[in-house]
Amino acid sequence: MSTLVLEGCAVVTVDGRGTEYSTGHIVVTGNVITAVGQGSPSPASLADSDDGDTVRRIDASGCLATPGLINTHHHLYQWGTRGLAADATLFEWLTELYPVWARMDADRVRALATGALAWLAKSGCSTTMDHHYVFPRSGGDVLGATVAAARDVGLRFHPTRGSMDLGASSGGLPPDEVVEDRDAILLASKAAIEEFHDPSWQSMLRIGLAPCSPFSVTPELLSEAADLARQTKVRLHTHLAETAEENEYCAEHFGCTPVEYLDSLGWLGHDVWLAHGVHLDDAAIARLAMTETGVAHCPSSNGRLGAGICRTHDLLAAGVPVGLGVDGAASNEDSSLIGEVRQAALIARAAGGPRAMSVRQALELATRGGARLLGRDGEIGSLEPGKLADVALWRLDTLAHAGIADPVAALVLGSRPPLELLLVNGKAIIERDELVTVDEQQAAASSRRAAAALLEGF
Ligand SMILES: [Zn+2]
Repeated sequence: MSTLVLEGCAVVTVDGRGTEYSTGHIVVTGNVITAVGQGSPSPASLADSDDGDTVRRIDASGCLATPGLINTHHHLYQWGTRGLAADATLFEWLTELYPVWARMDADRVRALATGALAWLAKSGCSTTMDHHYVFPRSGGDVLGATVAAARDVGLRFHPTRGSMDLGASSGGLPPDEVVEDRDAILLASKAAIEEFHDPSWQSMLRIGLAPCSPFSVTPELLSEAADLARQTKVRLHTHLAETAEENEYCAEHFGCTPVEYLDSLGWLGHDVWLAHGVHLDDAAIARLAMTETGVAHCPSSNGRLGAGICRTHDLLAAGVPVGLGVDGAASNEDSSLIGEVRQAALIARAAGGPRAMSVRQALELATRGGARLLGRDGEIGSLEPGKLADVALWRLDTLAHAGIADPVAALVLGSRPPLELLLVNGKAIIERDELVTVDEQQAAASSRRAAAALLEGF
């Protein structure tokens, strides 16, 4: 088994005890971290490498090692519809984009997902979820297309089988042409779990189920999807309390808040995480905390759509699990996960003062926090012996960061540093800030062609 030694770098383990090393090392054997510490690795920590095994040593001085970042909310297909409805509210933006998304097919989704995943990797992301909820009738296997793209790029992948079954003719927001029949959704969800879900410890792919939002799915679908998820032991995800308009929709149609609505359908629990959670009152936050329901905070998207500011300080103080998400690229053209760490810190402080979120808390949301939302906190999200080798090595000695006293402040508050190395499951995805798994120029060209095809005639 091959061994990789990173040495001479600052190490922020995000292990929950605040363990950091000013000049440390990480030893990776196969796909597992076997040692982390100050100074050089001890001969004993390399002893597991038998004669003949390859040991690669990397001089990582000038760099900061963190856990690979974990993205807990995204819509990869939206890579092809960036820059549209640039000054719109959520409901206006959705209404303009649904007809374009109706033109998705497997080839276009594969090209766009490859572009989105490659870009995510360049922002330090080693694990991402995807929420795919548009399944045009003649579009082919669009979920399979995202899985193929993730295998090509090499990221650990948590795709969710999304869905919409409440079209405009039944009082929902989406046009009827992009919604599916409930029985067909549940059958396809079951088939996706059987085909793709790998529950093993070192899994590179786990499926979840994700009916889209209260205003695009029926209560029957939410309830039956929850039953299926619990029978098959997969996680549940949906959008919730993103805008004030959504809260008004829930009051009008269900006579309650979005969290009360989910609660009534068995949709709160440690196996559920919700995107956004912007418009939550104190009772909703207490209920999420009590049920250990997670929130994927997406600050750039919330800003782009003028949705509001998530109460992250209050969520964290109450004990709600919180992770970060870039959200779909159509509402966050930047789609940078390290960028989202910076946004999370800044927006929390803009709303709640300078101590509303520390730089280390912001980094923790994108690492340990995300791992907890995806049910992977025993495997990823921190740099500790025995965990899977998902590691981001950031270069902090170039003009952008050289001389910044605290490497974590440099990473979180500064511009995106070059990625010296990104390991996923022990394998290099990025070296010297270049993707090594896919060709970046080809991914850009394919993305451009797919986006042009989607928009042709609009
Ligand atoms: Zn979303």
